[in-house]
Amino acid sequence: MNRAYNFCAGPAMLPREVMERAQAEFLCYGSSQASVMELSHRSDTFMGIAQGAEANLRQLLKVPDDYAVLFCHGGGRSQFSAVPLNLAPSVAKAHFVNTGSWSRAAMSEAGKFVSTHQIAELDTRDPSRWAWQFASVEEAPAYLHYCSNETIDGVQLSALPTGMAVSEGCPVVADMSSDILSQPIDWDTHQLVYAGAQKNIGPAGLAIVIVKRDLLGRHGRPIPAIMDYRAMDAQGSMVNTPPTYAWYLAGLVFEWVVCQGGVDEMARRANQRSEYLYQAIDNNDFYYNPVPKPFRSKMNIPFTLAQPSLDAAFLQEAEAQGLMALAGHRSVGGMRASLYNAMPMSGVETLVDFMGEFARRRG
Ligand code: PMP
Repeated sequence: MNRAYNFCAGPAMLPREVMERAQAEFLCYGSSQASVMELSHRSDTFMGIAQGAEANLRQLLKVPDDYAVLFCHGGGRSQFSAVPLNLAPSVAKAHFVNTGSWSRAAMSEAGKFVSTHQIAELDTRDPSRWAWQFASVEEAPAYLHYCSNETIDGVQLSALPTGMAVSEGCPVVADMSSDILSQPIDWDTHQLVYAGAQKNIGPAGLAIVIVKRDLLGRHGRPIPAIMDYRAMDAQGSMVNTPPTYAWYLAGLVFEWVVCQGGVDEMARRANQRSEYLYQAIDNNDFYYNPVPKPFRSKMNIPFTLAQPSLDAAFLQEAEAQGLMALAGHRSVGGMRASLYNAMPMSGVETLVDFMGEFARRRG
């Protein structure tokens, strides 16, 4: 069976070894005489799977012991509301950094539960030099939120912008849905990290939340039990029936990352893949990426063709060569190549060869 190189932004390609292992274990997991999907979440077998996954994730990301690791329902977007509900009373203010579509979506949803204030925005009007615009800040917020990697816009922040006022002791929250496990996380500067699973972790629907425990319980208002981080932590992420099969697959992916050499190795590969593709785009007038170098994402690389009328032919011919899901997000058009952890270098090389050949023939 021929599997394509899948450049989808999510649900994204998973490592072949993981898929083969899941296939081999599908009908009967170990000596359990049942599929993981059919096991009680409270059974010893599933508890072993769940705890093994958490232990590997903690090891990979060097998560400190005073942080909880939660396996939640509802994907990345569920956390847009769970974060303000858990971290802030309704009268509180939360600060937001705006780097693109997902930052704005998170801020808009949080606005239903707290008062939101945009304190930094990327001004993209000058295409050669994007600049930060900072708003004035009058009072200390309950937390500061940013998105480390804008999946649609192809913008990644290696750190919070210098020059931005972050109040002393203000918890920093990061949406790492599309770059978690592709680089180490600094826990001195992050108190809550969350991620939808369907890019670097596993199947869609699952979300991982890693949160410093001493932030919990400050909200002073009723919140739904399955979104309550403190209750989830106390009950091992089993306030209700968790997404067991997604949890199991995430565990297989974590094991795979460990076997490949861990997060540092994932970071090395992400550099190698993205540099190779950016170089091909920058060296060919037929292709264009609008993001200035300091902000370029190593995970999601949007690009346009010199002649947009050729978009459909590009996508069709790419697919015929086993290069799948290269269309840009429906809100921006153009192309986008997502290069998550499971994308082998051979996939990027095949894409670059195809792009060169297409430009020669059609450009
Ligand atoms: N944040 C980011 C950065 C994303 O890329 C996405 C999904 N592409 C989401 C949040 C929302 O995730 P979900 O669709 O799982 O709710």
